[in-house]
Amino acid sequence: MRKPIIAGNWKMYKTAFEAVDFVKNLKPEVSDVHDRAIVICPPHPVLKDVGDVIRDSNIALGAQNLFWEDEGAYTGEVSAPMLKSVGCTYVIIGHSERRQFFGETDETVNKKLFAALKHNLFPIVCIGETLEQREKGETFEVIEKQIREGLKNLVISNWSLVVIAYEPVWAIGTGKTATPQQAQEVHAFIRGLLPRDVAQEIRILYGGSVKPDNIKELMAQPDIDGGLVGGASLKIESFEKIVKY
Ligand code: PEP
Repeated sequence: MRKPIIAGNWKMYKTAFEAVDFVKNLKPEVSDVHDRAIVICPPHPVLKDVGDVIRDSNIALGAQNLFWEDEGAYTGEVSAPMLKSVGCTYVIIGHSERRQFFGETDETVNKKLFAALKHNLFPIVCIGETLEQREKGETFEVIEKQIREGLKNLVISNWSLVVIAYEPVWAIGTGKTATPQQAQEVHAFIRGLLPRDVAQEIRILYGGSVKPDNIKELMAQPDIDGGLVGGASLKIESFEKIVKY
């Protein structure tokens, strides 16, 4: 059985006050939810403050990015040991916004993946096709390349921490969700690309305009193991409903 994960990606939203206020209010609302993992991924400057509020609760802390070296002259970057030191247990890698605006490639995704695994962080590796690629019929080819190159050189023991998020780029922040059937089709394809020994254990999350009114149907699909939620994770009301789908 794969334990579902509902992860909120706050992107570049919320000041320290807003972030702390949010988790203080969310914590009691979801304290009785134990059959799924709840993860909040705030911006780096507020990780410590948010981590302090949710320590010893059923809400886990995740970062939105990391650099692959442990330390060094890399101005502006943060490393896996730094994320661990403020309480992170998850880290998003290769989000499409980072691929689009910050030059992330399957090669950098792979380096970051190994940095996360070295420090026992659950990497949430994001993959997904653009609208143009979908319309040209290239979805499966794109996904296969992202999996083969972004997740290359993993040995079987590495896989236990890995989480994959399928996020069609055309569905992110657009209000256009993939239909549950479209998502399931790609999720099943992704699972088919994974090593047979681990394929049934790997969590594959869906991301792209997940909302309270579509989460249930998405989660009813056999290969959808959770959601990576952007916009709807910024309000307690909608995030709580998604967590409790
Ligand atoms: C995301 O940030 O990964 C995401 C899927 O955003 P949204 O839910 O707003 O589409």
